[in-house]
Amino acid sequence: MLEVSGIAAFYGAAQALFGVSLCVREGEALALLGRNGMGKTTTIRAILGLTPPASGSVRFAGRPLSGLAPHRIARLGLGLVPEGRQVFPTLTVAENLVATARPGPWTVARVTALFPRLAERARQPARTLSGGEQQMLAIGRALMTNPRLLILDEATEGLAPLIRAEIWAVLGRLKAEGLSILVVDKDVRALSALADRFVVLEKGRVAWEGQGASLLADTPRLHALLGV
Ligand code: ATP
Repeated sequence: MLEVSGIAAFYGAAQALFGVSLCVREGEALALLGRNGMGKTTTIRAILGLTPPASGSVRFAGRPLSGLAPHRIARLGLGLVPEGRQVFPTLTVAENLVATARPGPWTVARVTALFPRLAERARQPARTLSGGEQQMLAIGRALMTNPRLLILDEATEGLAPLIRAEIWAVLGRLKAEGLSILVVDKDVRALSALADRFVVLEKGRVAWEGQGASLLADTPRLHALLGV
């Protein structure tokens, strides 16, 4: 479904990615890991055309994305839950959900069935929500675009344990329903339960790729790659 081949990306003269390749197959969950500053967010930005790759290619559903504006790429079926949530603070929860919605099976009713708290808070401005509720809203807003691939940058960063567990459970349900997922997070155990494969970045390169369980079983490598 998503094929990233040998992409390089720069911020001005500073190179952040040096030939990153990865793929997400239909119905698969892929975890993207790495310590701070290793290039996870830049990889996502490159896929979405926000930091267009200087070389290499990104294909989605067989279609090359190079040269397409980010909103056109998103419309092909890539839904982003950005780092730091970035909900629209002055809009209500209900308004946030419909702001970028596109027609498809995901509706407000289905999102609020997944996250009942969003129904309770439908008329509140998004800025009055807790961090966890804002993350639920960011996920709901991305689902309302009816994506074929859901991309989460830091799925549970900074959230309370109970909320984190709720978000992992929801991602498990979405995957079981057949949604393809690309997820960045630091929780290797939760990622290992969700994701079919891990891709670990180090200094803008893929340093390791394989099943999460085999990385979890290799303590020295886990420590070297992720510092955990
Ligand atoms: P984190 O977990 O901290 O978000 P990351 O793995 O997502 O890290 P990136 O944000 O992709 O890493 O950063 C990769 C590299 O690009 C880092 O060296 C970072 O300093 C650099 N970088 C990121 N954003 C910019 C920017 N806007 N301008 C210049 N350099 C940047």
